[in-house]
Amino acid sequence: MSEFIRTLPKVELHMHIEGSMEPEMLWQLADKNKVDLPYSDIEALRNAYQFKDLTEFVNLYIQGTEVVKTAEDFYTLTMAYLDKCHQQNIIHAEVFCDIRTYTDRGQAPEMVLEGIAQGFKEGKERWGITGGMLPCFIRHLGVEAAIEDWQFYQKHQDKILGLGLAAIEVPYPPQLFQSIFDEVRDAGLKVVAHAGEEGDASYIWSAIKDLNVDRIDHGIRCLDDADLVNHLAQSQTPLTVCPCSNTSLNVVADMADHPIKTMLDAGLKVTINSDDPAHFGAYLTENMLAVQTHCGITDEDMITMTQHAIEASFADEARKQDMLKILQQHRKIDQVAMGR
Ligand SMILES: [Zn+2]
Repeated sequence: MSEFIRTLPKVELHMHIEGSMEPEMLWQLADKNKVDLPYSDIEALRNAYQFKDLTEFVNLYIQGTEVVKTAEDFYTLTMAYLDKCHQQNIIHAEVFCDIRTYTDRGQAPEMVLEGIAQGFKEGKERWGITGGMLPCFIRHLGVEAAIEDWQFYQKHQDKILGLGLAAIEVPYPPQLFQSIFDEVRDAGLKVVAHAGEEGDASYIWSAIKDLNVDRIDHGIRCLDDADLVNHLAQSQTPLTVCPCSNTSLNVVADMADHPIKTMLDAGLKVTINSDDPAHFGAYLTENMLAVQTHCGITDEDMITMTQHAIEASFADEARKQDMLKILQQHRKIDQVAMGR
C-alpha cells in the first residue's frame, strides 16, 4: 500500500452511517435485538455483501436498518466507523443519516441523533476526530414526509451540521424540495443534495439554482454539460465524489473509466469519499488507492482533493485552519522523504 496515502490526513464528507455496517455488526445487532435474518449463518451474510445488482444492494441496506433499534445501537455503529477513521487517519468526518426509515416503523427518531451525537462526542475525546451528522430527506418518500421530518430536525438543530437530500434520485428532481430547503437555509443550516449520480446534469443545475446547496453529493454527470462544468469551476461548488460506489453500482462501468481525473483537471472542487464503505468493500483509503491505481491520480492531486475537503467541510474556521496546517505538515514530510 502507498505509504503516502496511508499516512495522509483525510477528511470524509459523504458517508451514510448504515452503509458502514459490516456483516459482523449486522449479525451481532440482529442477535441482540432478536431480529430474524434470512441468512443461515454469518458466512451466508458475508456472501450477501457481494451483491450482484442494485436490488440486492438495497435489500441488504434495508436489512441493516432493521437491526438498529436503540440510541446505543447507533452509538455502537458510529464508534465502529470512527474507529475505522482513526485507523485510516481521517481527522474530520461528516456522516449522513435519516429518521424517516425509523419513524415509519414506529421507532423514536431521537435515538438516531442521540446515538450518533454520543459517538462523535466520544470520537473527539478519544481520537481528536471532529465532525458530526447531516440528516437527509428521503427524496422518493416525497415532500410531505420531508416537511414532517423538518419539523423534528428543527427542534434538534444543535445536534446537526445541516441537512441533505438522498436516496432514489430519478424521477425526484431537487426542485420538488425548493420551499423546504428555503426554510432550512433561513434557519441558518448548511444544505447538500445528492445530484448527478443516476440523474442527469439538470438535477445538478436544480440543486444549485433551486436548493442553493453548499455542496453537491456525487455530481459526476456534470461532464455531460459544458456550461455546468464552467459554472462549477467558477463557483468552486464542492463535489463529494465516491469512486468505488460508482463502480459497485454500475454508474461507471470500470474504475479506469472513472471521470475523477477529468473533473479535477477541469478545475472542479472534487473530493473523494466512500458513500457506503462496508457494502462497497472500500473505506476512504481504499477509494484513494483505487483512483491512484486506475485513474492516474497523483500524490499532488490527493493533496489538492484533501485541501478541497477541508475547505468544503462544515467545520468552524479555526478547525479548518488547524486541518490545513496538519495537511501542510504532511506534505512537507512527504517532500523530504521523496527528496523533492
Ligand atoms: Zn450517498
